[in-house]
Amino acid sequence: MRPVARISISMKRTRGNLESGRIPGRMSALVYRGGGSLKVESIPVPRIGSHEVLVQVRACGVCPTDIKKIRRDLLPPPRVYGHETAGVIVRVGASVRGFHPGDRVALHHHVPCLDCHFCRRRAFAQCAGYRVTGVTAGFEPAGGGFAEYVCVKRGCLPGMVRIPKDISFAEAALLEPVNTVLKAVNLLGVVPGDHVLVVGQGPIGLLFNRLLTLRGASVSACDPLELRRRIGQRFGARRTFPTMEAIGDPVKRMTRGRGLDAVVLAAPSDEAFCQAQKLVRGGGAILVFAHTVRGNATPLDLGRVCVDEQRVLGSYSSDFTLQDEVARLVFSRTLDVRPLITHRYPLTDAAAAIDRAATPSADTLKVVVEPGLRGQ
Ligand SMILES: [Zn+2]
Ligand SMILES: [Zn+2]
Repeated sequence: MRPVARISISMKRTRGNLESGRIPGRMSALVYRGGGSLKVESIPVPRIGSHEVLVQVRACGVCPTDIKKIRRDLLPPPRVYGHETAGVIVRVGASVRGFHPGDRVALHHHVPCLDCHFCRRRAFAQCAGYRVTGVTAGFEPAGGGFAEYVCVKRGCLPGMVRIPKDISFAEAALLEPVNTVLKAVNLLGVVPGDHVLVVGQGPIGLLFNRLLTLRGASVSACDPLELRRRIGQRFGARRTFPTMEAIGDPVKRMTRGRGLDAVVLAAPSDEAFCQAQKLVRGGGAILVFAHTVRGNATPLDLGRVCVDEQRVLGSYSSDFTLQDEVARLVFSRTLDVRPLITHRYPLTDAAAAIDRAATPSADTLKVVVEPGLRGQ
């Protein structure tokens, strides 16, 4: 693993803020300019207020939701995306307590208010405060992780997690996707001995394999790519299948005709959803995790929902209250995310990183942008 560059621990006070090292006035950032266009530009380093923190980004994972926003032009430009971010605190607002320049931290870009109608019902991703992005490199806040520095706003300070010395920034950047998967696994309510099928063996599907296995489930996995199926086994799948059609008979055998306890759709396949309805037992669950575009309609057998009591569940984004458990899992390497990180790009090539993640080959799992890496 790349040695972590030392940062100066000599600190000084400027305008009441505490800071370390030399912080430039301008920085590089991958700016989204609309029409799917991305360019590395020089923009000002964000200024922070007295309740905010400036973090030098060391790693930021490329997430499918960023790709979706860029490719489909979902939000008005300009923006700097990237929300799976880890780095080093370099400046701390005068009123911030508990964090110091030099701290290595993973960021959480959405923090719910914990007090509204939605939060009291644990629907954190529906909280109005949660939807406000609290980490920015400038412009309309959008995560900002594809830049050299980000400002962490007051609302997101409670989500900042310190990274132990022996854990890399790239690993820590994956706390966010791990959180989203743990939240979904909790929602499924899996108990030891359950038979669960995970459809799609990209990074998210693989995290499901591992977390479900840790809960004592017997995991099967489905992916058309042979290499992905092999990796799926390393992440805990006991059986793998190239298609949903291939699964029917083995499922009958292994569940004595009962059917699967749950199917997780970690790929946005409507076809897989239809098949899942036939594979899940009465009272079992189908978890829809990758269908992130509204208006996506597909046939649902309502008789299976009513008479067979099949549950169709959705889960989106993270659960702030799980962050400590997520940190424990990743930092203890009980959930070792290192094999997921297959591609690293310097910030100068961040647009290529996003292309790579948007059109992955079989061996492309998690793509991470690391501003400290040198360009070729
Ligand atoms: Zn993400
Ligand atoms: Zn709330």
